[in-house]
Amino acid sequence: MAHVLLVEDDPAIRGALIRGLTERGHAVDSAAAALAGLEQAVRTRPDLVVLDLGLPDLDGATMLRMLRGASRVPVIVATARDEERDIVAVLDAGADDYLVKPFGAAQLDARIRAVLRRVGGTAADGEVVVGGLRVDPRSRRAELDGTALDLTPREFDLLHYLAARADQVVSKRELLTEVWRLPYGGADKTVDVHLSWLRRKLGESAQSPRYLHAVRGVGVRISAPA
Ligand code: CA
Repeated sequence: MAHVLLVEDDPAIRGALIRGLTERGHAVDSAAAALAGLEQAVRTRPDLVVLDLGLPDLDGATMLRMLRGASRVPVIVATARDEERDIVAVLDAGADDYLVKPFGAAQLDARIRAVLRRVGGTAADGEVVVGGLRVDPRSRRAELDGTALDLTPREFDLLHYLAARADQVVSKRELLTEVWRLPYGGADKTVDVHLSWLRRKLGESAQSPRYLHAVRGVGVRISAPA
């Protein structure tokens, strides 16, 4: 089951896909225009976005670039046959997969499951293990070398977000969007302060990091100690 945001302006297609995906166990939100979809994608943080390329207010490729500025949520693009030449452009703009209309909910569901498998599942999925660090989003418990960590809710979310992307550098902008839900505001300083608290709870320092590595001018990553 995934939380899917469907951005589609055709009410008949939208209705049919909502029904079909809901029957297959997904929780579906929808928007009928690009800017509304963008706002919802940032606010509700779906596991995956299905994006129609032909929208009334913005073309889908432009929306995709705007979305990618704030989030790396997986995106499946839905395109009409005469827009096929645009497919390369949207894949370059960061789409994870595409479908050419007409398609049914069964095919879309299969693509959704395939994309989510590839990106490592939904937010509700299981425990993340990085070296001696275990982070379980269901129980919201984290432990290091078998000892429970006493984290605030924000510290937990920050640790889980980074641990789920182990060995990838995550920007402070992305953390503000995905952990703080402040896509258009918020200060890097906020992230820095929480990272330093988290670092202390992990028993390490910026000078001699074990798990939490600052990458100057880019962001931060979690990696298992060598
Ligand atoms: Ca359309």
